[in-house]
Amino acid sequence: MKVLVLNCGSSSIKYQLFDMTSTTVLAKGLVQRVGMAGSTIDYRKGDDGKKKVYECDVLDHKIGISKIFELLTTGEDAVISSLKELDAVGHRVVHGGDKFSSSVLIDAEVKKAIHDCIVFAPLHNPPNLKGVEAVEEILPTIKQVAVFDTAFHQTMKPEAYIYAIPYMFYEKHRIRRYGFHGTSHRYVASRAAKLLGKPLEELKLITVHLGNGCSICAIDKGKSLDTSMGHTPLEGLAMGTRCGDLDPALILHIMKQYELTISEMDNLLNKHSGVLGISQISSDLRDLEEDWPKKSERANLALDVYSHRIKKYIGAYMAVLNGCDAVVWTAGVGENSPIVRSIVHREMSWLGIKLDLEKNEVTWRGAEGDITTPDSKVKVLVIPTNEELVIAQDTVECMK
Ligand code: ADP
Repeated sequence: MKVLVLNCGSSSIKYQLFDMTSTTVLAKGLVQRVGMAGSTIDYRKGDDGKKKVYECDVLDHKIGISKIFELLTTGEDAVISSLKELDAVGHRVVHGGDKFSSSVLIDAEVKKAIHDCIVFAPLHNPPNLKGVEAVEEILPTIKQVAVFDTAFHQTMKPEAYIYAIPYMFYEKHRIRRYGFHGTSHRYVASRAAKLLGKPLEELKLITVHLGNGCSICAIDKGKSLDTSMGHTPLEGLAMGTRCGDLDPALILHIMKQYELTISEMDNLLNKHSGVLGISQISSDLRDLEEDWPKKSERANLALDVYSHRIKKYIGAYMAVLNGCDAVVWTAGVGENSPIVRSIVHREMSWLGIKLDLEKNEVTWRGAEGDITTPDSKVKVLVIPTNEELVIAQDTVECMK
């Protein structure tokens, strides 16, 4: 069974074609600058083939997806002989509101629900929907599946998802914590169970997803009990350019003091805050970690604030879970930054965590590993995320 996974952003399309019989990646790549001048398409045959970059005009998502289909089926790097070989398309959809607690086959009703959630995710849901509609136009009969970032967190109880503001906002406008990165938290939790050699149903896990966006999740018996991102992906941990948790009164104060409009404030909190805002150097942790701790005081401060917030949430989630078997690190920073992992786990032995500093320094390069000492009561694992694989697996499940 061959499944194409699409992640359509406002100006990009990430894609991977899976052969789910052998669970292998046949081809993958990225369309960049959709709707802009200078668009390109990256194409890699297989999981680690040589990347080829093609320049072409990609005016919209439909043209981008047509180009992907063309690369998959024609030329020397083709991996399927025709689109007839394609069995289904799985889409990453950011917001499913409180309607979806699992992945679903897309029909008119599901499309309407994705559309209704645009109000919650105005930057993400419209391009996600465009991707679905573009495939529908090119291949009208193919089955499509939506895999929501929010679905995994639908098991949270009201005490975790209700905000302490007038209840009317929840009742009338569904304003509540939704949480994101659900596909990644779910995947690494199930891998952690394999690595620990125990059923997921017997484990209490804290999963830490640190990419450009960052979130942390308390998982009990495979179910999300609480997560740091909220109604939007701005809440919680400090991120590359996003502020995360903040005293809400500050927003009013800064807007008044600097006479900022709503969109200027939105821009400040989403694009100019986080480690970029503190360091004024970069949103990319690699730039701050270069020469650490000698780079600059502000680079160190940004790393310390970033790490302190993670530590605080780990403590909070140990309380929420009433224990913890393992903390799992994943995504760009989580998988690759021994510095952040060591700052966070410094002095956590009272909570049962003892990091093995040598193992922490290992460059895991896509491998999974335990970075604690044998006597550490709580394990700390590094597990590379694979959201595309989960989307492909869910697509296969929904087709059954
Ligand atoms: P996305 O959230 O877009 O999926 P990733 O999970 O790939 O992104 O994470 C991207 C981030 O990972 C970059 O902004 C960078 O800060 C961080 N990163 C990648 N490699 C390293 C590394 N070797 N050390 C520290 N941080 C890294």
